[in-house]
Amino acid sequence: MKILVFGKTGQVARALIAAGPEAGAEVTALGRDAADLSDPAACAAVIAATDAKAVINAAAWTAVDAAENEEAAAHVINADAPAAMAQACAAKGLPFVHLSTDYVFDGTGRQAWQPDDPTAPLGAYGRTKLVGEKGVVAAGGVYAILRTAWVFDAHGQNFVTTMLRLSQTHDALRVVSDQIGGPTPALAIAHASLRIARALAEDGSRSGTYHLSGAPDVSWAAFARAIFAAAGRDVTVTDIASADYPTPAKRPANSRLDCHTTEKVFGIRRPDWHTELAKMLAPS
Ligand code: NDP
Repeated sequence: MKILVFGKTGQVARALIAAGPEAGAEVTALGRDAADLSDPAACAAVIAATDAKAVINAAAWTAVDAAENEEAAAHVINADAPAAMAQACAAKGLPFVHLSTDYVFDGTGRQAWQPDDPTAPLGAYGRTKLVGEKGVVAAGGVYAILRTAWVFDAHGQNFVTTMLRLSQTHDALRVVSDQIGGPTPALAIAHASLRIARALAEDGSRSGTYHLSGAPDVSWAAFARAIFAAAGRDVTVTDIASADYPTPAKRPANSRLDCHTTEKVFGIRRPDWHTELAKMLAPS
């Protein structure tokens, strides 16, 4: 099955390229040079011209703190572009899989968020992603919005690569322990997106908003300890509160995502991040 992917260099986009052959998908991944999300009409035109059977959007403005000062630019990429893509897909009858985020929630409480729970983003990034979700739904085509959280991979800028880099110069780190979520391997998101794209091509009635994050849910501090243990690095992690690590954008304290409907509808289970982390850190 031919799949058109927006994004080429990002964590999930790279994983989609890697996962394609195993999933029986012929993935064409578009970098910024081939499709710039700052130009939503150009992205729609690419879809109008494609012979792919489904489209996955793995590109986004993901600089959470920078979005606070550049919300208008982030809005074009995270809201206007996906809406234009979804409209172009709807016009051609192509399923559209769009990735979104736990940041659409305000992070209150301790329950895992259900896909239809009320949204209330805490910052600009979450706001732009939420408007993007609404644009995808409003397009009226066959779609899946797949919200994920705490994405990691061997490449790219993420918590795992950051911790490993810091471990080269630090033997003790203070890490936030009052934010809880499910670290999610990029490869698991890629396989899930490909499976969902295929399922939607067979049966568009499965359109909707879904969740996928890694299990078990942990704090950033506990995740850091697991990373250092798996990598054999001797770094002492001290728990701190979010208030002791101020950032321009506020993060949700509760990023737990309830993923049951994703399993029920598509047979996709939460990935075990311990296993993926071990594979990632295994000497090659
Ligand atoms: P990355 O930050 O690793 O990659 C983002 C991708 O978007 C890059 O390929 C980047 O290309 C591309 N991109 C950014 N701006 C443009 C543009 N104007 N035109 C074309 N391409 C552009 O993101 P992830 O793979 O981690 O994220 C994938 C999805 O998952 C996103 O929708 C994100 O919102 C969501 N998500 C991510 C989380 C995380 O922890 N990372 C958590 C929850 C959800 P370039 O290299 O050229 O900049």
